[in-house]
Amino acid sequence: MQTAITTQDYRLPPEQVPETVVETLGRDERDECIRQIKCLLREHNAVLVAHYYTDPDLQLLADETGGHVSDSLDMARFGHESDADTLVVCGVRFMGETAKILNPEKRVLMPDLHADCSLDLGCPGDEFTAFCDRHPDHTVVVYANTSAAVKARADWMVTSGSAVDVVRHLAERGEKIIWAPDKYLGEYVQAQSGADMVLWQGSCIVHEEFKGRELEELKQQHPGARVLVHPESPAPVIAQADVVSSTTGIIKAARELDADTFIVATDRGIFYKMQQAAPDKTFIEAPTAGRGATCKSCGHCPWMAMNSLTKLQTTLESGANEVFVDADVIRRARLPIKRLLDFAAQRKQPVYGRNDA
Ligand code: SF4
Repeated sequence: MQTAITTQDYRLPPEQVPETVVETLGRDERDECIRQIKCLLREHNAVLVAHYYTDPDLQLLADETGGHVSDSLDMARFGHESDADTLVVCGVRFMGETAKILNPEKRVLMPDLHADCSLDLGCPGDEFTAFCDRHPDHTVVVYANTSAAVKARADWMVTSGSAVDVVRHLAERGEKIIWAPDKYLGEYVQAQSGADMVLWQGSCIVHEEFKGRELEELKQQHPGARVLVHPESPAPVIAQADVVSSTTGIIKAARELDADTFIVATDRGIFYKMQQAAPDKTFIEAPTAGRGATCKSCGHCPWMAMNSLTKLQTTLESGANEVFVDADVIRRARLPIKRLLDFAAQRKQPVYGRNDA
């Protein structure tokens, strides 16, 4: 087993993390907003693609209007297959960028361009490029949760569902790996693959807050519960998982596993699709240390929460918040994404629909 080398700490300081603010509308206001959005989508030949972590109303709207709810790469793929002129991405900025990279001919809009991600923010393109330049003998593998500029510097892009397979494949070819930006996912991949890896030290401010000891206590209160964990979580949480998987994998496990109760360590936005998939089952949020918690998110991403019905309506009305990516960056960033798609196709692995970001 190789030992992972790490970089300096790139966790986002708490003062740079916004408070999680969830929009609340009265019933009439909400219904009118949804009615307007449906008209605007038709008027602009636009399609709505939403991530599993967004507000249930947005997920419902995407489902009801012929759009799609999924992970970031699958959102972009859906956009590519759609004949809509405009893709409206309800998610965070790197998802809008990925949609644009794979669909440069389409207009890509987002309800809020300030919807960011601590992994993306914690991996600045210029510092990452300088870091890669210091390790010229390493293959650069980046997670989907990165900017277009970081993808443009990478050899491979991976999702949480494909990361272990890709890195294991590269390790078998004798390649040394630079991994960025999520250190917990990187540690997990390193442990599973045994690869020689240099890990960038970024983290997701949502998953990082799940606590191992409190999870142990919760498991004792629910001895029959299965534990489903996203691999952006810390190792003591992953160690207690019955299933470690991507968002789509977690939903699938909830549907297929023979258990009534699940403790879930990922953004609570996923509960909407989990309850649809397994309506008779009970889902419990994994603990973030509860009352004494210092997290600002406590199980819900503040940037995902920036996507709201009213902002979506405004964006569709005004055409504001369009995502632009430099043409040369698009050209270079497509290569690592295409490598992943080709790898999955060769192995007949469904990259889409089982991975996330
Ligand atoms: S949940 Fe974490 S990884 Fe996902 S967008 Fe929010 S900060 Fe990024």
